[in-house]
Amino acid sequence: MTTTRREVLGWLAGLGAAAVLAPSQANASVGVTALRGVTLIDSAGTRPNATIVLADNRILAVGSCDLPLPRGSTVLDLAGKFVIPGLWDMHVHGAFMDRITLPLCLVNGVTGIREMWGFPPIYALRDRIERGEVFGPQLIVGSTIIDGPHSTLPGAQIVATPEEGRQAVRDAKTQGADFVKVYSYLDRPTLAAIADECARQNLTFAGHCSDHVAMGDASSLGQRTFEHMYGLPLATSTHETQLRQAIADLPLDPANSFAWFKQVLELERRATLSHSRSKAVRLANLLRRNGSALCPTMVTMRVLSSPADRYANDPRMKYMPAFYRDLWRDSLKNWAPVTPQEIRDQAEFFQRRQEQVAEMHDHGVEILVGTDAGNPYSFSGFSVHDELELLVEAGLSPKAALNAGTRSAKLQPGEAANLVVLDGNPLKDIRNTQRIHAVLTRGRVLGAAERAAMLKEVEKASQEPLFPAVRTACC
Ligand SMILES: [Zn+2]
Ligand SMILES: [Zn+2]
Repeated sequence: MTTTRREVLGWLAGLGAAAVLAPSQANASVGVTALRGVTLIDSAGTRPNATIVLADNRILAVGSCDLPLPRGSTVLDLAGKFVIPGLWDMHVHGAFMDRITLPLCLVNGVTGIREMWGFPPIYALRDRIERGEVFGPQLIVGSTIIDGPHSTLPGAQIVATPEEGRQAVRDAKTQGADFVKVYSYLDRPTLAAIADECARQNLTFAGHCSDHVAMGDASSLGQRTFEHMYGLPLATSTHETQLRQAIADLPLDPANSFAWFKQVLELERRATLSHSRSKAVRLANLLRRNGSALCPTMVTMRVLSSPADRYANDPRMKYMPAFYRDLWRDSLKNWAPVTPQEIRDQAEFFQRRQEQVAEMHDHGVEILVGTDAGNPYSFSGFSVHDELELLVEAGLSPKAALNAGTRSAKLQPGEAANLVVLDGNPLKDIRNTQRIHAVLTRGRVLGAAERAAMLKEVEKASQEPLFPAVRTACC
């Protein structure tokens, strides 16, 4: 069923609403869809018995149950259902596996992702999605990973001087990155140069908190997000000065820089034993004022702090390329605790880091849902729901977790019509985000049958040996 743009504009005028529909081609027809009788839940609050009217992938109007509709509207009677904004995974890898990553996100209600290791084919994919040539979530794509000398990450772009840092930012801009991704080993002068060049190029930077720069300092330089809780225990420890000196004194074997990283992590674990609430509050105030957010990627941090085989039999493995089974098992060998003491220590470490995330949230720091999908047993799309659960387990309310998972989106006229219709109330139980009735995005309604068909296609694609050289997992 269709109606003309002129009729829709007339209807909006009759409501006294803003004309959020582009007025071009007034006689052209436009498909209008109305979701009626839903409970709308977004960062503005909860609105029962609502009607949401959509066209051109925009929300045209939000009203009560009896909102009059334009002639020819497709009405979806969704009484008893709950509608939330489309979810965002703010830390993913593997967007280049477009036949796996993109559909897995969409079937899970994830209508936006931030790819944390960009390269030119992914910028091209992002643009093809926006042109409607590929069906997928909205992509925000980072630069290649920029790191200092002795990086643990094969394939990272190494910058050894402030000038090389500036050049890396200019290269990222030229290639089409949406932001600059920074990593663990950048020294302060180079990070400051990257920050300054980002400001000149109108780019933001985000990523790991460098082991050589305190989180508050990096935040004040302009770092927009901090990943994986790295740097948080140190910055909130009463022994920060001694621990930083210990890091500075750590011997570095260039042939095995991962050993260095593990030692830093061990110092971070010890830092959680001398946590200072007042330091945490001061840091939270600074991050909040600077507009820096935390993206704790708890799903992946939990795997890395657990015995290697704990998550190996996840039934969602069937959606991953077959060689991931070995790739993930092997990459965990570097990380996983082995002895009973290590396993206990890591479990407690993980719990204390979770508590620190909740503490930062309590003091006004923005928290973002990120899964680090592509790393062991973190699954595109699916793991967003696991991360929401972990945020609630950490101490956030379901509403706060939903805000973290939707970037505090509001479902209001003019906004993109990315919506997830749920069978249960996520404010009662955050696991209800997994009870998806339909996903609406890019003008399509993905009901149960469409989503099941998409999953079947992913399973098929995962068996095909067609993926380009997969970068080793990064965290
Ligand atoms: Zn990372
Ligand atoms: Zn990552």
